[in-house]
Amino acid sequence: MKSTASTRPNRKAPAAWPTASMRPSTARRPAPPRSPAIDQLLQMHTYARPAGGAGEAAFCARYLDCIPGMAIDAYGNRLITIGAAPRVLWSSHTDTVHKTEGRPRLAYGDAWLTLNSKDPASCLGADCTAGVWLMVQMVARGIPGLYIWHAAEEVGGLGSAHIAAETPSILARIDHAIALDRRGYDSVITHQSGGRCASDAFAKTLATQLGGSYAPDDGGTFTDTAHYADLIPECTNLSVGYFGAHTAAESLDVAFLADLLERLCSLDPTSWPIARAPGEDDYGGYGRFSSSSFGHDSFTGGSYSDTAPGQTLEDLAADYPTVAAEILEDLGVTPAEFLEILDLRTSRRKRR
Ligand SMILES: [Zn+2]
Repeated sequence: MKSTASTRPNRKAPAAWPTASMRPSTARRPAPPRSPAIDQLLQMHTYARPAGGAGEAAFCARYLDCIPGMAIDAYGNRLITIGAAPRVLWSSHTDTVHKTEGRPRLAYGDAWLTLNSKDPASCLGADCTAGVWLMVQMVARGIPGLYIWHAAEEVGGLGSAHIAAETPSILARIDHAIALDRRGYDSVITHQSGGRCASDAFAKTLATQLGGSYAPDDGGTFTDTAHYADLIPECTNLSVGYFGAHTAAESLDVAFLADLLERLCSLDPTSWPIARAPGEDDYGGYGRFSSSSFGHDSFTGGSYSDTAPGQTLEDLAADYPTVAAEILEDLGVTPAEFLEILDLRTSRRKRR
């Protein structure tokens, strides 16, 4: 439907509206020199990977299952342990929100990776290919940690829900869970979907060690580490330099990502505080959304287990407008589509 001036609400989108075009106009760093690692990153993006599909299987076979020591659990999550009894979990996911299988064509220039403008794919898939690549590179360098490449994150975090419910003992020694699955340059996530998952003390320490513009961010939506917030004290999600996820205009700052790899490999986990108890929320509550009530496919009917009686989605959207906007963005709703929906509602009301 076309928007018309007469029905469009006379309200400007807020300046910080998260759109696909919000990436900075120029890369802040020069493009990294081509190397086997950068070539691998580009190649990884040529696999569209709807959850459970052939593309995801081929991708995992090519990049993950060939790593010596890699394990696959009953749900298809890939896991490997580097070092003796590590206390850090590194987390990403192997599926993408591509609507169809295929081998998308890419465009790469000035350190920005995007879809080729003629390619019909629905997104680039830097969410979470960037995180998958970081973890493969960290394993190759022997950085200690439990590494989990989760299955089915984009369809409700099903792979991590499986681990939390069926094999939580594999997380027993973990103090800090770090997902590499956040857009932008700045976030060290302390809250996912309104519930606290990491302490400010830990987020500040990690942000300081990472440098750049990293800072604690309480506006996270959802990724797999949210499912571990009742099991692991500190669960966060880090920005990895992609923008406009879940849209055809998605882009990845490869220079930022290559630099982030170096920063991640130089962190000192022994200095990280543990200032949150598993399950602890801001208001003394211990209930948070359950895996069954939360997921990319269940927002319309989902209920939050930690909402007060009578608290509606409208109340929550009013209380957490940034999270609400990010959820819409994650679901692929663009500002133009949002305005179209508003137009539809307005014109329907007028006809009544
Ligand atoms: Zn993701």
